[in-house]
Amino acid sequence: MNAIATTPTTTSYDVVVIGSGIGGLVTATQLAAKGAKVLVLERYLIPGGSGGYFERGQYRFDVGASMIFGFGDKGTTNLLTRALAAVGMKLEIFADPVQIHYHLPDDLELRVHRDYEKFLQELIAIFPHEEKGIRAFYGKCWEVFNYLNSMELLSLEEPRYLARVFFQKPFSCLGLAKYLPLNVGDLARKQIKDPKLLQFIDMECYLWSVVPADKTPMINAGMVFSDRHYGGINYPKGGVGQIAQKLAEGLIQAGGEIKYKARVSKIILENGQAVGVKLADNTEYRAQKIVSNATRWDTFGKLISPEQTPKQEIKWQQRYQKSPSFLSLHLGVEASLLPKDTDCHHILLESWDKMEANEGTIFVSIPTLLDPSLAPPGYHIIHTFTPSWIDDWQGLSPQAYQEKKELAATKLIHRLEAIFPGLSASLDYQEVGTPRTHRRFLGREDGTYGPVPSRKLAGLLGMPFNRTSIPGLYCVGDSTFPGQGLNAVAFSGMSCGHRVAVDLGL
Ligand SMILES: Cc1cc2nc3c(=O)[nH]c(=O)nc-3n(C[C@H](O)[C@H](O)[C@H](O)COP(=O)(O)OP(=O)(O)OC[C@H]3O[C@@H](n4cnc5c(N)ncnc54)[C@H](O)[C@@H]3O)c2cc1C
Repeated sequence: MNAIATTPTTTSYDVVVIGSGIGGLVTATQLAAKGAKVLVLERYLIPGGSGGYFERGQYRFDVGASMIFGFGDKGTTNLLTRALAAVGMKLEIFADPVQIHYHLPDDLELRVHRDYEKFLQELIAIFPHEEKGIRAFYGKCWEVFNYLNSMELLSLEEPRYLARVFFQKPFSCLGLAKYLPLNVGDLARKQIKDPKLLQFIDMECYLWSVVPADKTPMINAGMVFSDRHYGGINYPKGGVGQIAQKLAEGLIQAGGEIKYKARVSKIILENGQAVGVKLADNTEYRAQKIVSNATRWDTFGKLISPEQTPKQEIKWQQRYQKSPSFLSLHLGVEASLLPKDTDCHHILLESWDKMEANEGTIFVSIPTLLDPSLAPPGYHIIHTFTPSWIDDWQGLSPQAYQEKKELAATKLIHRLEAIFPGLSASLDYQEVGTPRTHRRFLGREDGTYGPVPSRKLAGLLGMPFNRTSIPGLYCVGDSTFPGQGLNAVAFSGMSCGHRVAVDLGL
């Protein structure tokens, strides 16, 4: 069969962004708002990536993220609120009174309330002998948060901004510099001695960093452990997918463009410099600056060939590894299953030695407790997921794959019966996603949740900023500082937009 040759078409932009995850969209909107000519190219049908959604009948499911930070209305760390506002957008939100309800081994059962003191009281009631340590540890987290929340958060690669911030907030800068190389474990062990409480702190980290306290940077913990009581956890009306939808709408209103079903297959380099991208259908787009919102493993080695991948990137890939992906279960259940006081987010773990194991910790979100419009009347959504490695799902016949999925779902539901008795009898809808599903629909190598340190590193110091060692090429999203989570990638997007704008002279 003869391949049909298509003539490449070339259009020129200031900036081309590969991918419309929250990181890519925040970069694009920041730049469009400053007057840059921006094009976003998205391989999928809708924007959002891991912050996207899908619909089945009257159910609207979040693909991934459901516990949303960054929607506060004060301070500077409310980056989702700020990113939307930059292009004249705002979302209606539901305030969540409890960040997480833990169901942990040895009957360790507790809620992280939005109200800080109420949370501390619940924790201190379980570990009364550690009251001083608990207050000291979470107090340190507040210290980090207050430093961050007192300054404008932009690109740490921009010397004039750094000088300005240092001049305005010298104590915050020096304070943050002290915490930058530290991990949570180092600090927690200084304040707390009870091994069970230290295990709890491990889980407090694992819940969002997918590594224990020893590998979790203190800067990220300062944000998460404090902002949940400050700006709080809030759920956007209409589902998490609304964040990306509104950013995309704002992008277009600000004069930017977004194209869907536009898979970039290659970043074009000329004389070692990124000058454009090529799509799978051979269309080419040229730009002064190229921003990749794909993961680092998809950017370097795929969009940039292995031969052209800079040494720094190879070194980075030795320090950081891909975290596992997830086995996800999207359920529609009869509303009568859930007692009135059920919390939206849960963590279930039966044995401490399984915390990091394949299908060990179970994460649960029930967003319809906050926004009932996401399910038909009389039903709830339960989105539950547990870490899972792609290797477990490779090399299976279609039938074996199907059977493995069904077995995994049955096992998860059986375990969840411990916190939702009657779950299997209340099912109205069930859909399983595996690491292969995550890889296919999110375009992330091995379906990974993102980079995690392969060994204990010096806090956040090893996470790269937005510039790369290829001139004209930038990265944004969870493979860059400060890491995973919607508010974190919004930070990355703000920084990237800032750095690119300065480089464009805007
Ligand atoms: C199951 C799960 C649960 C989570 N829960 C939470 C939570 O509760 N709270 C929270 O804050 N975070 C959560 N997260 C993490 C959060 O969703 C991610 O960290 C964040 O969405 C990553 O955003 P990103 O912009 O870096 O990339 P992505 O969301 O991966 O977006 C990248 C985009 O680029 C596109 N793309 C990739 N390659 C190409 C290409 N070659 N051409 C064109 N387009 C391309 C992709 O299709 C995608 O749309 C969760 C993640 C998962 C998977």
